[in-house]
Amino acid sequence: MKKTFRQKLKIAHLYPDFLNLYGDKGNILALTRRLEWRGLDFELENITIGEHNKKFSDFDLFFIGGGQDSQQSDVAKDLAIRKNELKAVIEFEKPLLAVCGGYQLLGKTYQTSEADEIEGLGILDVYTEAIKQENTDKQDRLVANVVAELLLPLSFESELKTLVGFENHSGRTRFSRQDSATKPLAKIIKGHGNNGEDGFEGAYYKNCIGTYLHGSLLPKNPHLADELILRALKCDELPSLNDEMEISTHKVLIGSRC
Ligand code: GLN
Repeated sequence: MKKTFRQKLKIAHLYPDFLNLYGDKGNILALTRRLEWRGLDFELENITIGEHNKKFSDFDLFFIGGGQDSQQSDVAKDLAIRKNELKAVIEFEKPLLAVCGGYQLLGKTYQTSEADEIEGLGILDVYTEAIKQENTDKQDRLVANVVAELLLPLSFESELKTLVGFENHSGRTRFSRQDSATKPLAKIIKGHGNNGEDGFEGAYYKNCIGTYLHGSLLPKNPHLADELILRALKCDELPSLNDEMEISTHKVLIGSRC
């Protein structure tokens, strides 16, 4: 029998005042609109540095955006205190989407362009190194519109098999080991992805997804938005929506040249 969901979905937007680049907040808008359009009840809470009274275990779905190195380092200090708490919700298979700077913090370490090492959470078995500042010129940033074949298995039939988005990062993210439980999220068709070399974009472990795709990501990738919602609700199907506009936008972006 198919499981449908009746309870309130609780969404946590982590550190929105520190990590929110290139329209990352649009991901929250996409999630909440898609819930509203389906008449599904939800509650959205922002959680920032020091708000440790808001327990991660009370939430069903998490989002962290991207940011500059200095903001990442502030957030990393707070996350270090909450490391076990966040790890527990991931082990409990609650979905989390992290973009760029947030993605880097979910890995083991992030070495900034000034060669400072920011300790990550080690939830994703990846590590990130930025090009050293003295060697940096603008060319060294990985900036592009990205198209990538989605490798994350979806729990429903979707006409979309790709992810589209915009990347702008100096960090190069690599998998620590090939036989890891952390897997690549997508395979690059256009753009740079994790490091511009191995052809992969993003990573996932259980329902924790890291990606370099800003943009905003979810409005242009409604299949990923619904996958996150389904996994958060732990149900088998969602009422369908008319995604004509989202799908045609996605297809236009696949065909765009830059
Ligand atoms: N500071 C990181 C980098 O440049 C993340 C940037 C971002 O979130 N766009 O690699």
